[in-house]
Amino acid sequence: MQSYYVDEKLSDGVLLEATFPPPGLGYSAGSLPGWGRDKSLFALYPHMASCGSIIGDAGVGRVSPLGRHGVFIRYNLTRGDAAKVLEGIAMAAEIYFAAGAAEVYPMLPGLGSIRSAAEVRSVREGRWRPSDLHLSAYHPMGSARMGADPSSSVVDPFGHVWDVPDLFVFDASVLPSSCHVNPQITIMALVARMAARLADSLS
Ligand SMILES: Cc1cc2nc3c(=O)[nH]c(=O)nc-3n(C[C@H](O)[C@H](O)[C@H](O)COP(=O)(O)OP(=O)(O)OC[C@H]3O[C@@H](n4cnc5c(N)ncnc54)[C@H](O)[C@@H]3O)c2cc1C
Repeated sequence: MQSYYVDEKLSDGVLLEATFPPPGLGYSAGSLPGWGRDKSLFALYPHMASCGSIIGDAGVGRVSPLGRHGVFIRYNLTRGDAAKVLEGIAMAAEIYFAAGAAEVYPMLPGLGSIRSAAEVRSVREGRWRPSDLHLSAYHPMGSARMGADPSSSVVDPFGHVWDVPDLFVFDASVLPSSCHVNPQITIMALVARMAARLADSLS
């Protein structure tokens, strides 16, 4: 899926990835303008391309119990995070126009489509709030962050929960914060390291 990427602004926390999932799965199809019986735009789908604007977010959230079996997840995107998303959209639009696109759909309320590189300015200069952005999240991490200090972390550097004997967490939640890029290899490396240490301690 990820045929191309742009990491020019990765140090600012913005990564572009040319991801284009099939319509049934896609945030891309669901985000196109047009409702109900109006399928005119969707008919052009074979001529479209889409790009993911992935940001390293700085927002914080909380996971708490809800009733007996549920969980309540609260997360707030910061204005800085929203600005990164807008920058990603603007960069992607510029790239598509440079490649000959006739129209770009930025998925922003009140801005159905843009038709030229000059119009991309309206993305960067617009006053969109975090709640205006059409987002999806594929790389959650940091909800049980690891660290050397029990007062600011949930698990130690080998996944052992500070407050609960014999409880270990080996997954993406122990990453201290967003790593800004696709995390699978990092998660696997980290878990292999923590699991080896646990196995040693049990043998
Ligand atoms: C559509 C999509 C595309 C992605 N593409 C990429 C990519 O290209 N590259 C990349 O690096 N990352 C990608 N990611 C992110 C990556 O998949 C995740 O970061 C990674 O899988 C997280 O690993 P994990 O072990 O923390 O959790 P998971 O892989 O989610 O594993 C959690 C496991 O726990 C199990 N489980 C849950 N509840 C219970 C329970 N109560 N009892 C027992 N088992 C339970 C689940 O069934 C699951 O098997 C993608 C994610 C998505 C959703």
